[in-house]
Amino acid sequence: MSAADIDTLSRLAVHTMTTKPWDLETAAEKYGAAGIPAITVWRQWLEGRTLAETKQILDDQGLAVAAHCRGGFFPSTEPSGRQSAIDDNLRCIDEAAAIGAPMVVLVCGAVPEQSLPESRKQIAEGIAACLEHAGTCGVKLAIEPLHPMYADQRSAVNTLGQANALCDTIQSEWVGIAADVYHLWWDDRLEAEIKRAGSRILGFHLCDWLSPTHDLLLDRGLMGEGCIKIREIRGWIEATGFTGYHEVEIFSSRHWERDQDTFLEEIKQAYLSVC
Ligand code: ZN
Repeated sequence: MSAADIDTLSRLAVHTMTTKPWDLETAAEKYGAAGIPAITVWRQWLEGRTLAETKQILDDQGLAVAAHCRGGFFPSTEPSGRQSAIDDNLRCIDEAAAIGAPMVVLVCGAVPEQSLPESRKQIAEGIAACLEHAGTCGVKLAIEPLHPMYADQRSAVNTLGQANALCDTIQSEWVGIAADVYHLWWDDRLEAEIKRAGSRILGFHLCDWLSPTHDLLLDRGLMGEGCIKIREIRGWIEATGFTGYHEVEIFSSRHWERDQDTFLEEIKQAYLSVC
């Protein structure tokens, strides 16, 4: 690897979900050996050991934690459901602090039984209820707008414009945005809304949109396999002054069936050549 490649890789992070067949110990060891400096830990990978033990596994490989995934899912038709979501997000913030993650990524939630504006109102209330704890723990909350195909059950926040509006409503230094190319690439307002978001952008997620896409959730592409103009979007993100990690987040049953060592090497090469 050239010195320039090593420099470029210094911004790379990989989500544990990307290499789903690997447990945390294996993922940490493999990422570390591959020269990948950072990891985003999904909550499922915390199971079966203490948070201190998890942090030790990451520290042993010299891995920084880019983010903790994921909190959110605030809306519910029942007040008790909304309260239990808030309680769960407070726990997620505690976990993030314990493993050294600077932010929790929020998949904000939606329920098909109620309107999207009602869900967005509940999302704003849910996030507001977590702000004090986020500030105490020093953990930011990154609202991740999701592609509109998920507006029924996963998120009522579907554009960067809506995420910016939510940030305008909440007005807190502890709230920002995770921008994922998979969810946002189609939006003709994207460049303008990235500019508007400015320093609110806390996270930047990478993968690609396959054409055709065979599964709404588990058929994301490796960067370069699809139609997203990743380098152009990255340029807009960097123009805001963003200096955070570029997080590779690929849900793909096709890639999970393959040899994960090969896949990780392809991720590095794709990152260097396409992103
Ligand atoms: Zn994402």
